[in-house]
Amino acid sequence: MWSSRLFWKLFAAYAALSLVATIVFVLVVSQWQERQIVGQVTKRLSDSAVLTEHGVRPLWAEGPSESLQTYIRQLGQKIGTRITLIDGDGVVLADSERTDARQVAVMENHGRRPEIVQANRQGWGASSRLSPTLGQPMLYHAVRAENERGEATGVVRTALATTQVRRNLAALERLVWLLAAVVNAAVGVITYAVVAQLLRPITTLTKAAEAIARGDDEHPVAIASRDEIGELARSFNRMQQHRKSRELELRNTSHRLAVVLGGMMDGVIAVDDRDHIVLANSAAGRMLGFQTQTAEGRPLLECVRNHVLSQAVADTRAEGKVEQFEIEFGDPDTRSISVSSILLPGATTSLVVQVFHDVTELRRLESLRQEFVANVSHELKTPLSSIKAYSETLREGAINDAENNVRFICRIEEQAERLHQLILDLISLAKIESGQQAFDIVPVSLAEVVKSCLAGCQPVADAKQVTLVQQPADTALQARADEEGLKQILGNLVDNAIKYTPSGGQVTIAWRRDERMVVIDVRDTGVGIAPEHLPRLFERFFRVDKARSRELGGTGLGLAIVKHLSQSFGGSAHVESTPGQGSVFTVRLPLAD
Ligand code: ADP
Repeated sequence: MWSSRLFWKLFAAYAALSLVATIVFVLVVSQWQERQIVGQVTKRLSDSAVLTEHGVRPLWAEGPSESLQTYIRQLGQKIGTRITLIDGDGVVLADSERTDARQVAVMENHGRRPEIVQANRQGWGASSRLSPTLGQPMLYHAVRAENERGEATGVVRTALATTQVRRNLAALERLVWLLAAVVNAAVGVITYAVVAQLLRPITTLTKAAEAIARGDDEHPVAIASRDEIGELARSFNRMQQHRKSRELELRNTSHRLAVVLGGMMDGVIAVDDRDHIVLANSAAGRMLGFQTQTAEGRPLLECVRNHVLSQAVADTRAEGKVEQFEIEFGDPDTRSISVSSILLPGATTSLVVQVFHDVTELRRLESLRQEFVANVSHELKTPLSSIKAYSETLREGAINDAENNVRFICRIEEQAERLHQLILDLISLAKIESGQQAFDIVPVSLAEVVKSCLAGCQPVADAKQVTLVQQPADTALQARADEEGLKQILGNLVDNAIKYTPSGGQVTIAWRRDERMVVIDVRDTGVGIAPEHLPRLFERFFRVDKARSRELGGTGLGLAIVKHLSQSFGGSAHVESTPGQGSVFTVRLPLAD
């Protein structure tokens, strides 16, 4: 309260007002008092003069005498008033302040005294002045004296020293001032209490407002009064509640926005008109390689070193329309990113929002699809061209060529078989990849599947003089897979191993348990594969030696089918190879409990 300027302003105003009112009141009262007292004294002098004039008439008629002087002196002492009798010529006949007639006789002529002059003229006179006789301020009243016949005989003058009157007045004035001071002090105390009482709710409100400005959470103001300040406090509380619910709403909205932005796969960056980042989600940070936590408030070019993006921001702002383009970003892991740059509508400052979509996978799939179509076309074209060529040759006369016609027809059959195999592999791969293939995933005995696979491949191996070996570690081991699918995997691997192993070589199938997986190895002592080809070996239509593969009847899809089937069963396929020494193809499948 002591530090409140408003308090001191109000208090000073009230106190000054009270002081001025008191001073004015005291002055008015003092003057009124003075007038009253002077009036009373004057009345008393007037009455005394009139009574004296009546009482002294018999003695006056006898002329100046000692008895007249004695009478006047005694009367004056009794009524405490100076009485002077002056004849028509101004000669003093008696004076209550003189002891005897002799002293009176030496008094100067009073005929020119103002009150005497006035009384002679109009019957009475008054004046307030310094007495030349007594040397002190006096109040005089004079009345004309008459004899029994009504003739003027002189003037009776009464006088009183004003010193006492003044003294009484001063005492009265002091009392009034004292009372005024006491009243003023009381008013001051009451003013203090009233102003403090009045300001207390305002101080409470001010403190609450300051707390809110500081960011403190909730500050309800408890002011119960029903006046305007109470109403203000209630409005303040309502305002606070409203502000809180709005704040909560805003916080929820911004939280939702943050969650949505954070959960988005697409990157979002918003930049202000100074090209400083005002918002960036984590996907944008991941794609463009910057820390989203520290990006806010920093220039875009400082966070993302890409001039195309900065230029796009400028263009979007200048042209006011959506810009769409694609950038290659990152080194060495270059990614294709599609960018949409939009001028945020309705914003007070022109925010440019850039949305980033990683299209690397899309582009990769697109190129894979194009490559696949090209490969399929090529694979189909080759046997078809052969068939067409042999057919034409036959039609043009070779059909009658007994030496070659059967050979040509065999070639046509071969190429048709290759086409058939290719189409079967393509259908099989497409089904596996699309998830349309319905697998019957059950525990499959490895010993049985391997046995059946080896039995199927034995004639080919025998024809090529390749030994097929089975190394059973655990005949009871079972894998969780589709039996037909597993047979296809092993068939492809063993078929390849035989194909790429020269005569006299050996192909071994072994299997073992590795924790919760079954590991099947197909090992050969064949030509092996150079390390640079290993990463692409399981891709569709990839062949180390295209001509050789075709010659051997391969479609280039066998290993792709192996990989996709293994993955469909929850496993994987790998290869290790040493050129000139042989290869090991490993398939891992889940173990059946
Ligand atoms: P293909 O029908 O040509 O055999 P695959 O997909 O089965 O197609 O095999 C792809 C390529 O991998 C083959 O062309 C061959 O070059 C290589 N390859 C596969 N198995 C072996 C192996 N056991 N030894 C050496 N090379 C192999």
